[in-house]
Amino acid sequence: MDWKRIFLSELDGHFVFEIAFRTVFMFIVVLVILRLSGKRGVRQLSIFELAIILTLGSAAGDAMFYKDVALLATVLVCITAISVYRLITWLMTKSSRFEKLLEGHPVYIIEDSVMVIKEGRKDSLSKDEFFAELREKGVEHLGQVRAAILETEGNLSVFFYADEDVKYGLPILPHAYNKYSDTITEAGLYACIICGTLNRLTPGHHQCKRCQHDEWVSAINTKRVG
Ligand SMILES: [Zn+2]
Repeated sequence: MDWKRIFLSELDGHFVFEIAFRTVFMFIVVLVILRLSGKRGVRQLSIFELAIILTLGSAAGDAMFYKDVALLATVLVCITAISVYRLITWLMTKSSRFEKLLEGHPVYIIEDSVMVIKEGRKDSLSKDEFFAELREKGVEHLGQVRAAILETEGNLSVFFYADEDVKYGLPILPHAYNKYSDTITEAGLYACIICGTLNRLTPGHHQCKRCQHDEWVSAINTKRVG
């Protein structure tokens, strides 16, 4: 291994200062450009916004440590990227078809306390990830949830039943959820652990009529408190 080349390459004392200058300069350029984007924060990014951020980041990053990248060329890349961003966001306000094409559209994940099942669905929020998000919003079981919608920015909107309307549902707190089994030993009301469909089951082995899965857990109907 040529450690000197790996760690230093062409780095010399003079270039160290140039890197520092380039970095500060590009940092300021990116900051100004992001302010010009009109976005107030970037907690959630749509795919389209992420593409713009990656373009900016890549251009700015190269300019920080490649000797032969002209700073003004990079500034030009940033200005072009943000102009395209502003143009496209403007076009999206004019055409909702164009907006759907670029940003996708909101998708129902839960409707009436059960998971919405669609064949070949591309939105890939896994069940674990999704239950974790519901727990963060204080959901204990799906019977509390009237609807959950995956928004285009990737965040989850949750609509609850009023306490008096809470139904039985699939528990999603780990201790309760992990008691699932494919063999029912005691008759009772159970929820399918994949789609949340309720079924009154007798001892034995049962398949969910809705999603064909065969593991169940006792349904609960606790109210939301606070
Ligand atoms: Zn099911």
